[in-house]
Parts: sequence; structure tokens; C-alpha cells
Amino acid sequence: MLSTNPPLTSTPTDYLKRYYGYDKFRPMQEAIIQSILSGRDTVVLMPTGGGKSVCFQIPALMLPGLTIVVSPLIALMKDQVGALHMNGIQAAYYNSTQTSREQREIENDCISGKLKLLYVSPEKLLTESFFNFLQLVNLSLFAIDEAHCISSWGHDFRPEYTQLHVLKEQFPAVPTIALTATADKLTRQDIATRLGMNDPAIFVDSFNRKNLSLQVLPGQNRIQQIVRLLQQKPNTSGIIYCLSRKSTESLAAKLQEKGFNAAFYHAKMDPDDRAKTQEAFLRDDVRIMCATIAFGMGIDKSNVRWVIHYNMPKNIESFYQEIGRAGRDGAAAQTVLFYSFADVATYKEMLAENNPANLGLQLAKLERMQQYADAHTCRRQILLSYFSEDFPEPCGNCDVCRDPRVTFDGTILAQKALSAMIRTGERVPMNLLIDILRGSRSQQIIQGGYDQVKTYGAGKDLRFEDWRNYIHHLINVGVIEIAYDQHYALRRGILADQVLYGGRKIDLVRPDDAPKPVVEKTKTK
Ligand code: ADP
Ligand code: ZN
Repeated sequence: MLSTNPPLTSTPTDYLKRYYGYDKFRPMQEAIIQSILSGRDTVVLMPTGGGKSVCFQIPALMLPGLTIVVSPLIALMKDQVGALHMNGIQAAYYNSTQTSREQREIENDCISGKLKLLYVSPEKLLTESFFNFLQLVNLSLFAIDEAHCISSWGHDFRPEYTQLHVLKEQFPAVPTIALTATADKLTRQDIATRLGMNDPAIFVDSFNRKNLSLQVLPGQNRIQQIVRLLQQKPNTSGIIYCLSRKSTESLAAKLQEKGFNAAFYHAKMDPDDRAKTQEAFLRDDVRIMCATIAFGMGIDKSNVRWVIHYNMPKNIESFYQEIGRAGRDGAAAQTVLFYSFADVATYKEMLAENNPANLGLQLAKLERMQQYADAHTCRRQILLSYFSEDFPEPCGNCDVCRDPRVTFDGTILAQKALSAMIRTGERVPMNLLIDILRGSRSQQIIQGGYDQVKTYGAGKDLRFEDWRNYIHHLINVGVIEIAYDQHYALRRGILADQVLYGGRKIDLVRPDDAPKPVVEKTKTK
């Protein structure tokens, strides 16, 4: 076990082979490792399953001292440390159930250099006693996992994370690597700033998972539709995500009645049952897991062949993360989202009830999710544009690509919208922009002087709803962006300049010509 480390001249690839048994790095992993080894602060955006762990674990092995890994969930730490032990790597994690004696032992092993990685929650990290301990060890690296938790723009904001900038203040010479699977553009910028990083190297891996097919189905008769889908996929493993605990249980019961090998999983279950259920799924003893979002965090099962969303997730980050649990082996996998407006209404009620500080942001994110479900353009383009990735051609592996909608050249309309938007200083939200385009004489328009704008009334031949529809589409494809941090003003998206000056054509679908997949697909009864 304690056999020799690779000799000092070893390369990262030698470590990859020796400790992980893989022959070569995936694109980016090696560059990320080199960045860290050169002492540079580094931000890594890589989809779930992309292989983030080795990006900090190999530097941790190669650097002389200790790497502190900040991770939000004990369950995740436990899994990661377990996996490291299996690979013969000395690592430990702190948790509140350990006795102070056990914790002292861990600390001693860190000080003596026996441990290479120590996992810790942000709460623990920020205690005075932990800082005192950190003064005693030879620190090589801080790795901040699930780094989107630091940003209030992210979908999973954790206030404790915002204090992590003290690491840079106290230990300016120790490089930091921040890793996340889900970060839109705002969140990305926020991560580096809030950690106090110094000229970080930023690595963004493609978020495109080609092997996942994308499909949206109407939310009526879900159970019948699911049964039909499952009948086409005998003996495969998959997850059905439900919004409520109750529906995981009732859905599992109904599927069992019909002879399917299904179980349920949610956070309110007895921990033993939960662990057993999860194990059974990993071993393929249970094939169909009806679960809440509590299921899947840190689960590394490569042969999940499909993910079904019984309910629409509340934002695209969550959706992307959940479908990302399918097809981790790279083979084809299917994802299906059941969409009904009732789910949107439920979320809105829940949000209104909880009234979170970032209510507007959460509603806007919900709306983007809804746009994905409503869209009549390539769904992958929508997903990738959400993550600010330019993906010029329709994907061919989503329901819209396979069943194309009738389009017309909407470039001029797009240019009109962009021009009105730019002439008003990219400061107006969608409804006001539409009023300007349609030449409305509302008080807000007159008082704001918007009737003086050159493009005022340039789109008066279209209905308000049509404009709304087209602008949603322009947002979906990345021509326009919603500035969540600027009162939801519309501003130029990554493709705006190409549409204005670069000859890029935009196809639109007239609302009346748009097939209604919701109605259309239910006919197959
Ligand atoms: P993430 O944290 O990005 O979700 P992980 O670090 O858990 O992803 O890696 C996902 C899977 O890919 C793991 O099973 C891991 O062992 C595997 N993996 C990582 N790097 C490589 C590589 N270079 N070659 C082959 N498999 C790899
Ligand atoms: Zn597509």
C-alpha cells in the first residue's frame, strides 16, 4: 500500500496510470493540472462526469504538501475519500460525528505529511480552530468543489461559501482551484471574484453531451406514456425525477403493479433504507428509480440509459445536472421531460410562499426552463446557449431536430429588436422593448422619451404576443441575453453582433405555424 510514490521526474500521466489506471487524459485535464502545478489560480467548468476530480487530485499527489478540498456535502466527501482509498491515496474528511480524538489524529497526519488530501465543509473550514491548525501544515493547494455555491447568481447558493475569500487573504501564496459543473456566465465571473483569485486561468469544457437525446412530451397521461417508454427499453437502468416525495412513492407502486422493477428514493426515508435502495440501483438489482432530486448527487453509475423528468425542474442548471446522470459511459442515452404548465404554476406558488431574497432571479430562471420546454428550435442549442456556448448547427439528436418546424427568415425582425435594444442603451426589459417596437403610446413610453428612439414603431405590424414569442426565441438561441443583474434588461447575446453585422441568418417560426407538441403527441393514445 505504502509502496513507492512515482519518482520525482514523473509526469501527470504517470500518476494517472498508477493511481487511476487510465492511459490518457481527457481534453483539458492535463492543461488544468499544469496550470495548478505552475502555481496559478484556476477555474474549471466541466459538465458532470467530465472528470473534474483528477484535475485537483493529481496536483495534490504531485505537490509536496497538503491539499484542502472544500465540499458542501458530507455524503460527497465520503464517496470521494472512499474512492481515493480504493486507489491507494491517503486522504481523509472531517465530519461532526468524529470524536475530537479522531480529529486530532487526522490533524497530526496532515502535519506529518502522511495525508495528501483533507476534505472539509465550508462551515468547519471557517472556524478559528481550523485556521490555527492550517498555520501548522505545509499547504499546497485549496480546491473548492461545487464552486457555484459561492454565487448568489447560481442555483444553489450557500452563504458559508461567500466567506471563502479569507483563504486568499490568509494564504496568498497558496493557489486555489475552483470547480463546478453548472455555472452560467454571471456565476463564472462571480466565482473568481468572490474567491479573491489573482488573474485566474479559466477552463471551460464543452457542455455538449452528444450521446444524450433530448425530448419534451406533454404532461398529460404521464404514467401511460412512461409505461410505453419503458416497454421499449427492457432491462435498462434509469431514473424518473419527481417533484414530491409522495409522487416518487405512488409512481413506484404503480410501475411495480405493472410488473416493472421499480423503487423510490427521497430524503425523508430512513437512512438505512436509503443506502440500501441506492446500492440496489448501483448493482442493477433495481432498474427504475423514482426519486426526488435528493437522488444522484455523487452517484457514479455509468450505465444509466435514460432519465425521465416526471415534473419540470425549476431551472436549466438543475435539469442539465440531472439529465447528465444518464449515459456517463458515452453510449446513447435518452432524456424525456414531461412538461405541463401546472408545474410552472406550482413552482410560482412555492416561490411566492417562500419569498426568497432572489425571487426575481429564480422566476427568471424558471422562465428559461419553461422556454426550453416550449421551444420549437433545437433544444441542445437552447441548453448550450444558456451556458454561453456557441453551437451553430442544430444537433440532430433532439425531438425538434428530428421533427422540424416550418421556419421563415426572421433576420430583419431580429435586427429590429437588437437595434431598438441597443438604441435604448440595453437598459429596457422585454415588455417595454416590445412596446417601443410596436410604437405604443403608453405613459411609460412617453415619459421615458422612448417615442424619440429611431426604431420606435419599427415593428408595429406584429402582435405583442408574436414579438414576445420571437424574442423568447432570440434569447433561446443566444442573440439576446437577459441581464439578471440589471433588472432583467435585455442586452446583446453572444450572437448579436453576427446577426447585426456578420450576415448571420435567423430562422423563426410563426406562432400559428408552430406545431403544438403537447397536443400532437397525446394523439398517439
Ligand atoms: P465529475 O466530478 O466531473 O462529475 P469525476 O471526476 O467523478 O467527474 O469523473 C467521472 C468519471 O470519469 C469517473 O469514473 C472517473 O474515474 C472517470 N475519468 C476521469 N478522468 C478520466 C480519464 N482521463 N480517462 C478515463 N476515465 C476518466
Ligand atoms: Zn437538436
